[in-house]
Amino acid sequence: MTNPFRSLPSVSELLEAPELADVRRMVPHDSLVAALRRELDRARAEIAAGRPVATTSPDLLASAIASLQIDLRPRLRTVLNATGIVLHTNLGRAPMAESAARAAYDAARGYLNLEFDLATGERSSRQNAVRDGICSLTGAEAATAVNNCAAATVIMLRALASGKDVIVSRGQLIEIGGSFRIPDILQVSGATLREVGTTNITRAADYEKAIGPNTGAILRVHASNYRVRGFTQAASIAELVAIGRKHGVPVIDDVGSGAAVDFAALGFPDEPLVGDGIRAGADVVLFSGDKLLGGPQAGIIAGKRRWIDAIEKDPFMRAVRLDKMALAALEATLALYRDPVRALSEIPVLRMMTTPIKVLRHRCERLAERIRVLDGIAALEVLDDTAFVGGGSLPDQAIPTVVVAVGATEASEEEFARRLRVGEPAVIARIRQGRVLFDLRTIFDSQENELVTAVASAVRGSP
Ligand SMILES: *Cc1c(COP(=O)(O)O)cnc(C)c1O
Repeated sequence: MTNPFRSLPSVSELLEAPELADVRRMVPHDSLVAALRRELDRARAEIAAGRPVATTSPDLLASAIASLQIDLRPRLRTVLNATGIVLHTNLGRAPMAESAARAAYDAARGYLNLEFDLATGERSSRQNAVRDGICSLTGAEAATAVNNCAAATVIMLRALASGKDVIVSRGQLIEIGGSFRIPDILQVSGATLREVGTTNITRAADYEKAIGPNTGAILRVHASNYRVRGFTQAASIAELVAIGRKHGVPVIDDVGSGAAVDFAALGFPDEPLVGDGIRAGADVVLFSGDKLLGGPQAGIIAGKRRWIDAIEKDPFMRAVRLDKMALAALEATLALYRDPVRALSEIPVLRMMTTPIKVLRHRCERLAERIRVLDGIAALEVLDDTAFVGGGSLPDQAIPTVVVAVGATEASEEEFARRLRVGEPAVIARIRQGRVLFDLRTIFDSQENELVTAVASAVRGSP
């Protein structure tokens, strides 16, 4: 009997195979050699364990090429978000509207009049693309936009209060996550934090008492991702504006999430609208582009002209300005808000948040029928459940939803979920009590076929 180890080809024999021509162009020689060695080691281990294993060159090459192709996949890949969390920070927050995505795509692949006035042939400001859209959304007289809301907070504080005190309620010294903490942001900006009130109660009088000769601004921060409940009190923006006016101190409203349609009417009563602060007389309002607004990552700054001018003159503006793709996408997103009905149907965040439960149940039942017939399904149910908006928005606001709960015969729920994550496309789902839950609120209609295919291959075995 021949020694099975001796039937294995050598690395140099494998390297000469014409099948490797394509991958040879894509991967460095060292990686190729490493992949072939890995295959040979794996085959040797199987032989040593007495298990059957393919030892011919074509088999070993096919398997090495498959693993190299997996390594060659882009690190950033499309995922199907079956978590039901609409603004999932780890999954890229807001998916953009078609028109916004297309605007970013067009901006990316060609030239555009980014800082060029086509009528006069002269240089212009890139911020012009989004000023009008932000002003009509907020009612502000002037506006600009930067890289994200954290950058907006820093540059705004630099312009209004560098070297001065900024008064903030103790109940609003929040951390948004990913190291955005109000006290740290203040420090970075060069302003000094002046805390007032207590965690649960801060009255207008507390702010007024804290005003002194070195006060630069009053900052109100929307407690985006948590709530203090029970015996609580916070000063309204109107009260703060009255104090600010009396003492000649600007008032800043960091609303964070950026709701721009009437969310209360849609069943989300706690979210301030981006126009509320300006209407109440705030000097500057800040919010994110990729939270409830549903656009690209951006920090939007709206308010009095003198402050917006001061912000744009700061040399730091250069470090936090938006790139052409984000600007184009933001302009297109803002354009959708001219017609709120259109905004609700075309901006995915708004559409997902407002999908009626009846529609979701119907979609889940249809999906369940398609999954039920797959091999390897142990259990399957359509269940009522609860989803959250996420992304530091509406923390208390559970949205009723419907999920398809699936168990696999051959895999634990963790293994089933892992296979879904590493599959193509990747699917991210919740796990509960032996089941993987698919929440269709965050799955687009157009993704349902892919979802079924992904589930079919995940229940069958690991890729
Ligand atoms: C989310 C949030 C921020 C940070 O916004 P990014 O766009 O993530 O930088 C700042 N302030 C508030 C109140 C927020 O909710």
